[in-house]
Amino acid sequence: MLLRRMIEHVQTQNWTAVALDFLIVVAGVFIGLQVANWNEVRKEGMLERVYLERLHDEAFVGITGILETTDIAFTRRRDAMHSAYEAVFSEASDRRSLDPAECNAIANAHNIIAPPHQFPSLEELNASGRFGIIRDPALRNELTGYALMQENSRSLVDYFTADHFVMPLEFPEHFRTRLRAVDRSWGENQVVTCALDAMREDARFLNALTEAVTRYNGYYTLVLRPEIDRVKTIHGLLDERLGIDHPAVPSSVP
Ligand SMILES: [Zn+2]
Repeated sequence: MLLRRMIEHVQTQNWTAVALDFLIVVAGVFIGLQVANWNEVRKEGMLERVYLERLHDEAFVGITGILETTDIAFTRRRDAMHSAYEAVFSEASDRRSLDPAECNAIANAHNIIAPPHQFPSLEELNASGRFGIIRDPALRNELTGYALMQENSRSLVDYFTADHFVMPLEFPEHFRTRLRAVDRSWGENQVVTCALDAMREDARFLNALTEAVTRYNGYYTLVLRPEIDRVKTIHGLLDERLGIDHPAVPSSVP
């Protein structure tokens, strides 16, 4: 219709009308492209929101569940291990016995593996090449950093667990262990007694303890702490972007 009218205007050499027709065509194409563009932006915005909500839920489950439990257990064990280490190496005049938590901590000094936190949505975004729909630069940085950190953590865990030895099996003369209950629970389910005087006289044990505590510190400082703290940062950013408030989210280990 418009084309036929335009041809008529050209034939009658009505150039003003031709110019108007041309402007109408250009404006129509422009508006059509803009509408398609807005639709695309709107769809990407909706998809971004879906992924932000999923990432949020995955972070929230971690910091209120397994990560929080791991944080508390590993931090308490680290603190007990440090005070036990000082007691084992103390001068004769300052000697004291180990309490059950300290004895348990050095018996489990080799035990440094906690399952890494997973963000299935992040892996999905990266695998499908859709990571670009996350527009917030701070959030993008944290998520990219998290993925890189997980890669580095795997190498560090390999390093810290190389030549793995179990303290009570390596030094059965210094530890007696038994399960508090024979069930499927995991973690602080062992009752351990320590032969502290014999430990203090055993140079091989003292060196092994130093090695185990060093590895535990390395794992805690370079792998576990950064992972938990970064998941908490990601969760905080997602709360901000989604306008969510969680008064009950734990913020630190007691
Ligand atoms: Zn939240």
